[in-house]
Amino acid sequence: MARAPFELAGVKVMPGNRIQIDVPVARLYTHAPLHIPVEVVHGRQQGPVLLVCGGIHGDEINGVEIVRRLLRSKQIQGLRGTLVAVPIVNVFGFMQHTRYLPDRRDLNRCFPGSESGSLGGRVAALFREQIVDHATHIIDLHTGAIHRTNLPQIRAQLSPGSETERMANAFGAPVILNAELREGSLRHYAQNRGIPVLTYEAGEALRFDEWAITPGVRGVLRVMRRLGMLTGEHRRRLPPAAELANGSSWARAPIDGILRPKVRLGARVAKGEVLGKVADPFGNAEEAVTSMADGIVIGMSRLPLANEGEALFHIARFDEIEEAESAVEGFQSSLEPPPDSLF
Ligand SMILES: [Zn+2]
Repeated sequence: MARAPFELAGVKVMPGNRIQIDVPVARLYTHAPLHIPVEVVHGRQQGPVLLVCGGIHGDEINGVEIVRRLLRSKQIQGLRGTLVAVPIVNVFGFMQHTRYLPDRRDLNRCFPGSESGSLGGRVAALFREQIVDHATHIIDLHTGAIHRTNLPQIRAQLSPGSETERMANAFGAPVILNAELREGSLRHYAQNRGIPVLTYEAGEALRFDEWAITPGVRGVLRVMRRLGMLTGEHRRRLPPAAELANGSSWARAPIDGILRPKVRLGARVAKGEVLGKVADPFGNAEEAVTSMADGIVIGMSRLPLANEGEALFHIARFDEIEEAESAVEGFQSSLEPPPDSLF
C-alpha cells in the first residue's frame, strides 16, 4: 500500500521525495521575511518520523553542521519513515551569534509556548505546531553555553526498557546523563507528550569542534539504524560503550581571578584533586579549585577569567568509575585522527 504524503507547513511531500521548506516565522521590522529552514526526507516505506534539530540556542552551531552532514550522508538514501531535519531553530539568535531571542528570552524555556504570548512563546508555539508535533522521535542538538565546552554526552530521561533508553544507548556518546527535565524545554514538552527525546550536548558555543560533530553525525545515524529507518547494508561496528552517570555537579571559582586549568575535558579526577588554580593577575592571592567527588570532567570553562562562584568544571559521578574512564578512552580512540586540542 502506498504511503500517504507528509504535510508540513502546508507543503505536501510525496513518498520517496525530499523537499526543503521555509517555514515562515516572522516579518522583521526591516520588512524582510524570516524562516525556519526545514528539509523533509519522506521515505517510501512506513517508519518513525524523526525530528533532528539544532540551534534552539542560536550560538550553538556544532548541531547545524551535524544536520548538514546528516542530510548529505548516503546512508539516508532510501530511508524508512521520515526525517525532518531543522539545522537552525532559533534563527533570530543565529544571526546575532547569541543563545537568546531578541527579547532576551531563552527559547528552550518557552515550550509549549502560545500564539498570543511573548516573542519566545510565539516562536516556540510555531515550531511546536508546525514541526515538533509531527515527530514520533526527537534528537535535539546542543553545545556548552558561551565559553564552555562539553564532552560529548547524551541527556535523557531514562526509564528501563524505554524507547528513549534504546535511543540513548544506540547513539554511542561516552557519557549518558539521566538529566532532570527543565521546565519549558523542548525535551520537557516532548517527554510529557510521550515522544522519546534525546539531547546531544557536545563542544563549545560559536565553534565547530570536529570531535563533537563527527560523533554527532554517527550517533544520529546509529539511532536511525536502531529505529529501523536505514535500509542499506552497513559495517556493523558496535558503538563505543556508554556509561550512565548517577549525578553531576559544578566546581566553582573560590575567588575572583584568572584560571589556569590543570585537567582536560574527559579526564578522570579524584575527590579533592586540584582541577585548576585561580589567582589575581599578580599571583598574590591564589586558590585551588578542587573536585568534590571522584568523577569525569564532562564540561569546563574555556575562558580563563572567572568571578567568584562561576561554574568552571562540570564533574559527573559514576557507580563504576573505571568503566566510565574506559568509555571515554574508547570514545577518543574511535575518532580518526585522534583529537589533540581538548582531549
Ligand atoms: Zn543549548
